Amino acid sequence: MEHLRYAVTTIRAAAAPDVTVDFNIQTNGVLLDPVFLDLFDEFDVSVGISMDGDEAGHDLHRRRADGQGSYQAVRAGLDLLTSPPYRHLFGGLLSAIDLRNDPVTTYEALLACNPPGMNFLLPHGNWDAPPPGRLPGDAAPYGDWLVAVFDRWYGAEVRETRIRMFSEIIRLLLGRPSNSEAVGLSPVALVVVETNGRIEQVDTLKSAFEGAAGTALHVSRDPFDTALMLPSIAARQIGHRALAQECRSCPVRRVCGGGLYPHRYRAGSGFLNQSVYCQDLLRLITHIHATVARDVAALRPGA
Ligand code: SF4
Repeated sequence: MEHLRYAVTTIRAAAAPDVTVDFNIQTNGVLLDPVFLDLFDEFDVSVGISMDGDEAGHDLHRRRADGQGSYQAVRAGLDLLTSPPYRHLFGGLLSAIDLRNDPVTTYEALLACNPPGMNFLLPHGNWDAPPPGRLPGDAAPYGDWLVAVFDRWYGAEVRETRIRMFSEIIRLLLGRPSNSEAVGLSPVALVVVETNGRIEQVDTLKSAFEGAAGTALHVSRDPFDTALMLPSIAARQIGHRALAQECRSCPVRRVCGGGLYPHRYRAGSGFLNQSVYCQDLLRLITHIHATVARDVAALRPGA
């Protein structure tokens, strides 16, 4: 607790007067209690909860060492977070996709928590360690799963919540830049500071291979801008020029951007590959494009 207080106050005090520092915590919520939440309230720390759907869906793979599912504990933390004194701290829900769960049931279970926003994560995987349920050829099981959620979300009569992945794809389709590293070609503008002070690349890279995120930089001696000189980070600043040949000629490359960087990894060629989710991204993006284009066309005068 005091570590958190120390970190927040020290970082805020060290920031230049014209720099705004936002603090967000992503947690499964099982340790949330009024003491933590009062601290987050004091320092305006927003809290995101990781939850994967209804109890059956969540507990399918979120299990404790004793085999018990964690849903009830997560739900207790979420109920406390969404109670009147703390509701304003609730940042939203983050859900890892499990193909064994029905997509619409999963979405509606999350929606029942009234989140201000939610997002879905593709499980980490790459060409050497494909994600669960990935099929060869043109099959797009994750794309189909997300299309079902998109249709339920987009087809609602009122906007029930934000879903970041879909909003980002729609922004990109309308010609705007992306604010997410998961899609689009915007330069990646983040580094990770580990608790030992090491400056690293985004930690999801660790899913590719041991040490993939590491750099030799340290906050005690290196300004953050130094990270931009690292070839691995520079490669993520140059948009389509850093894409694999297949992606460069892909019709949805500007929206897809080759997918999340760790998902492109293959031993030998490194990250210069299509995403292991290529067919899924193609399926989702072309579906959203067709849906939005139809609605935009209907708005035209005389349509
Ligand atoms: S859909 Fe596939 S080929 Fe096209 S940009 Fe995305 S990963 Fe590359």
